[in-house]
Amino acid sequence: MHPTLMNRRELDDIRLWLSQEIERLQLRVQVSDIDAAGERSLIRRRRAQAALCRLEMGTYGDYCKCGLSIEVERLRLDPAAPFCADCQAEIDDRRRAA
Ligand SMILES: [Zn+2]
Repeated sequence: MHPTLMNRRELDDIRLWLSQEIERLQLRVQVSDIDAAGERSLIRRRRAQAALCRLEMGTYGDYCKCGLSIEVERLRLDPAAPFCADCQAEIDDRRRAA
């Protein structure tokens, strides 16, 4: 975690946002059939749950798959972001190329 960059109150706000997001997405998954929109909600819920899990473990934002931290500004914009900007750009490029 980045105690000097994100204070406890900000982390509490993110925890609350993620919990509410998971609930919202849970409802959406339940009411939608397994179509493309339902699938997207499921993926977003999984992403939010993983972020909440990292927050509870005290590793929130710590390690991207490249070993670097996820940028704080990035987490403020997307609290469930699983990757740093560079890794996400690489993933997006590969997806576009596929
Ligand atoms: Zn990375």
